[in-house]
Amino acid sequence: MILITGGLGYIGSHVNKLLSSLGYSTLVLDNLVSGSMAACKWGDFVECDLEDKDKLKEIFETYDISAVMHFAAFTEVADSVKHPSKYMKNNYENTVNLLNVMHEFNVNKFIFSSTAAVYGTPLSIPIKESHPLNPINPYGESKVRVEEELSKRSHEYGLRYVSLRYFNAAGDDVDKEIGEEHDPETHLIPLILDAAIGKRDCIIFGDDYPTPDGTCIRDYVHVEDLAQAHLLAYEYLKDGGCSDVFNLGHGTGFSVKQVIMECMKVTGIKFEVEIGERRVGDPSILVADSTKIKEKLGWMPVNSSLTNIVNTAWRWHLKLNFKNHHYFKD
Ligand code: UDP
Repeated sequence: MILITGGLGYIGSHVNKLLSSLGYSTLVLDNLVSGSMAACKWGDFVECDLEDKDKLKEIFETYDISAVMHFAAFTEVADSVKHPSKYMKNNYENTVNLLNVMHEFNVNKFIFSSTAAVYGTPLSIPIKESHPLNPINPYGESKVRVEEELSKRSHEYGLRYVSLRYFNAAGDDVDKEIGEEHDPETHLIPLILDAAIGKRDCIIFGDDYPTPDGTCIRDYVHVEDLAQAHLLAYEYLKDGGCSDVFNLGHGTGFSVKQVIMECMKVTGIKFEVEIGERRVGDPSILVADSTKIKEKLGWMPVNSSLTNIVNTAWRWHLKLNFKNHHYFKD
């Protein structure tokens, strides 16, 4: 069975759904700090914090685990700047605990949720995997530390891993069964959709960047395409593939203003847009070169058009905010 840590979170739950729908047996591990039991719909579930080594060992003793997909982590850049040690502890040290227990139980296939934040401010666009790693915040730093640990262990005792460096994960489950639900929410698309339903103001964090319309450009990739990449990575390792690192992005950049325009188009709602201060630590442009995973694993981001991302996000957003409305009642 495949162990999915953080399997009740945004990306982990989409991966769990995909694997389960294809007949893979999954075990979801989550400490319920940010994961939601509402996403506990497939596979087996254990509540566990990766800090708890004894509990981890018990889990590996109880279940027949053949591979691990590791999503459990803190993911907020701004929070990491305020609380760096929290990120080192949870994202790096707890991953070491997990890797140690895997080693003890001879589980040697590992798929890791990494991030474009490992690159820091890009020297060239689109960003290839060979771009230097120069994180500019503790979140990115914690992920680099794990990647270094993985590389070391793959040489030391044959751990085989795939590290997937996500660009901007976005969009939601097409069936609206699960979706993005952060508290507090910090991501652009759900925040814009909140503005569309009048829940908060829409604020652009700076319009004086060196981009055509002055707002930051990002590479949005649909969470279902990310899920597909995990499946391909698992099959690759199962077939004997060597450890490797891949970018996961659509390869197209959209500015904050373009994303807002798309949200207005999809929702049919016009709302006020304010220009605010720049957010600390935001590079002006992040766009992936994902050629490597396309060529090596045959991945294609088929769900990642901006329209599909916003469409699925909007459908989920309506359900999340108006679940008591008769339209959403089962
Ligand atoms: N952003 C914005 N207003 C918001 C939230 C985000 O202008 O209310 C911008 C943010 O500065 C960044 C882009 O939208 O340039 C994407 O931000 P997000 O937090 O979604 O992802 P990140 O790129 O930080 O991982």
